[in-house]
Amino acid sequence: MTPATTLPVARPVAIPLREILPWALFGGLLLMLGIYFVGVEEGAVAMFKGMYVHEFVHDARHLLGFPCH
Ligand SMILES: [Zn+2]
Repeated sequence: MTPATTLPVARPVAIPLREILPWALFGGLLLMLGIYFVGVEEGAVAMFKGMYVHEFVHDARHLLGFPCH
């Protein structure tokens, strides 16, 4: 019988909060911007004239359950 060998185990690297925070804020900002364009960009609160943004994100709007038509 051969002796059991142990494999080296990878240990997770701790990432300091101060390194994650700017990327988390940036990702959150992009997420909120995406939700705005998919869910709210239409009619009286529209930033762009016309229905171009609405039509571009129309399928995502239905997929996420935002009221549309
Ligand atoms: Zn629709």
